[in-house]
Amino acid sequence: MAAKSNKRCSFCGRSESEVQLMIYGVDGNICNECAQRATELVRENMTSKSKFNFSLKDLPKPRELKEFMDQYVIGQDEAKKSLAVAVYNHYKRILQDKKSDDVEIEKSNIVLIGSTGTGKTLLAKTIARKLNVPFTIVDATVLTQAGYVGEDIESILSRLLQESDYDVASAERGIVFIDEIDKIARKGDNPSITRDVSGEGVQQGLLKLLEGSVVNVPPYGGRKHPEQKMIPVNTQNILFICGGAFSGIERKIGARLNTRMVGYGASAVTQKVDKDNMMQYVTPQDLKAFGLIPEIIGRLPIITHLDPLGREALKRILTEPKNAITKQYQKLFKMDGVKLVFSEEALDYIVDKAIEFNLGARGLRSLTESVMMDYMYETPTEDIKNLTITREIAEEKISKANVK
Ligand code: ADP
Repeated sequence: MAAKSNKRCSFCGRSESEVQLMIYGVDGNICNECAQRATELVRENMTSKSKFNFSLKDLPKPRELKEFMDQYVIGQDEAKKSLAVAVYNHYKRILQDKKSDDVEIEKSNIVLIGSTGTGKTLLAKTIARKLNVPFTIVDATVLTQAGYVGEDIESILSRLLQESDYDVASAERGIVFIDEIDKIARKGDNPSITRDVSGEGVQQGLLKLLEGSVVNVPPYGGRKHPEQKMIPVNTQNILFICGGAFSGIERKIGARLNTRMVGYGASAVTQKVDKDNMMQYVTPQDLKAFGLIPEIIGRLPIITHLDPLGREALKRILTEPKNAITKQYQKLFKMDGVKLVFSEEALDYIVDKAIEFNLGARGLRSLTESVMMDYMYETPTEDIKNLTITREIAEEKISKANVK
């Protein structure tokens, strides 16, 4: 290595002997520390530019958003469309010129209703990839009314602040996905006289965020702490997407449809009702019957549903999405020089088991994992070039693994 010269960093002025590394340029030099700081500055500026400076013509159009979701999520066309439109309108709302125009575009928060494992979170995550605004997913089950054990409602916004590197202006145009919104439903249609800590109180708190108001947010989340300096965040332009399984809501929908069916025209309606997919008939009224307070429902004007996943959809999920489970295993094995093939019958068997265990798409991964485990352990040290997973193999491995 060449002897250290006495060249100085053109930024901080330190000499080569004072720093770990000096990079020489034509007319100047930079030390490792200044270079690192410069990289950080570039990154900060580039992200804020790419993330938050956009114009109407650069916006991903609803069709484009849906086509992107199609690559990762099977089916669920209606939910995809509603999401795509809501997100597109959200951008437009951010871009609207408030001075020259007195028509103000209101935000349209959304509720996604569908059984567990039908793709609600996956949809939210997928659309987030395509977004140019801060996005976060939070779980409603951890929230409690102020003063009780759990997290304050405001902590929802802490996550959004973190996502936007504490740039409040960016966070104020972000999108929040609140999962398991059904878990904060009141335990019945009638307002209870007893205190409902996990239900109505939380909904009231949430209402404040959905309506649009200035909220004091603990920057690091969790409970409010006297020492923690609060950051005021205006939620007026934040889009909320809520997801929930609303298990049992089918009965409420059914009850409502039945009442309506009595009388004139009843038979025509009865014929059309698809009993296997009652969620598609959901209305705000049903959410109220389920235990959401009317004020919250009023702030969630778009209600959309996810379809139950049948055999065919589950099989497609195994093989079709861009990062389908079988494709992931094939990639893993390819890295060891092994060509992995799943027979159609093996895939059918995995799907049957997922249905039998009532796990929906959630079960596909753990079932496939138990089929593949021994092979992943053994194959790298064995001289194998081809591996075909047959139905017999799938049956044997799954029965041995005792998957629940
Ligand atoms: P939910 O939020 O509705 O309970 P998730 O989105 O968490 O369900 O789905 C669980 C897993 O199942 C996902 O990670 C994904 O692998 C798979 N999955 C569920 N639905 C779909 C779908 N429609 N298309 C592709 N994969 C899906």
